[in-house]
Amino acid sequence: MLKFKKLVIILIGPPGSGKGMQANLLAEKLNLFHLETSKILEEKFSENIKGSLIIENKRYSFSKEKKLWEEGKVCSPPFVVYLVSEKIKELKKLDYNLVLSGSPRTLFESEKIIPLLEELYGKKNIKCFLLNISPKETIFRNSHRRICELMRHSILYFKENEKLKRCPIDGSKLVKRGKLDDPETIKVRLKEYKERTLPVIEYLKKRKIKVEIINGSPPPAIVFENILKKLR
Ligand SMILES: [Zn+2]
Repeated sequence: MLKFKKLVIILIGPPGSGKGMQANLLAEKLNLFHLETSKILEEKFSENIKGSLIIENKRYSFSKEKKLWEEGKVCSPPFVVYLVSEKIKELKKLDYNLVLSGSPRTLFESEKIIPLLEELYGKKNIKCFLLNISPKETIFRNSHRRICELMRHSILYFKENEKLKRCPIDGSKLVKRGKLDDPETIKVRLKEYKERTLPVIEYLKKRKIKVEIINGSPPPAIVFENILKKLR
């Protein structure tokens, strides 16, 4: 049985590398809180907060940020980082260990979030994994991805679940994610990923945080085993 007093796992990978799924598996196995930026934003915006936040002398209005988010655009990075940092502090107070998927996404986020995680959890307790899949596979997997209507559980494409019509967890209908997963959008997201992620990895190396490379192509259960092996 793997036991950690303090642990933060950071999963990095292109769209469709299965980092969300691995994060869920790790969260369950190691009793971690799965921290997702999109969920934090969703939660905040559903509270319908009025007014604004002042971060480093700049004002960010909740309604403007919400509008960006609803239009599928990127919220202001300082606004996002602020909310994520607050959430991390809150979770640490509750003694949670964490798994992050898809964050930090940029150098800007890394420079704010990594030092905070180091301070709260200790550098040696931060484990980082890069899930590698080829660009071709990214496009294939994403254009075949479905989500469930009820909870937006992501169902990555595998031969084994090709005929699946309903979410295995809650039984709701499986649908396409629409624009986010059409091949042209995926190409844009892939390009963005490459441009933004390399600096994040460089930054982690500079801070002496090891980034383990994991092959993301095999079925999730095998990828999961390979991650656990590296944690032992
Ligand atoms: Zn579901």
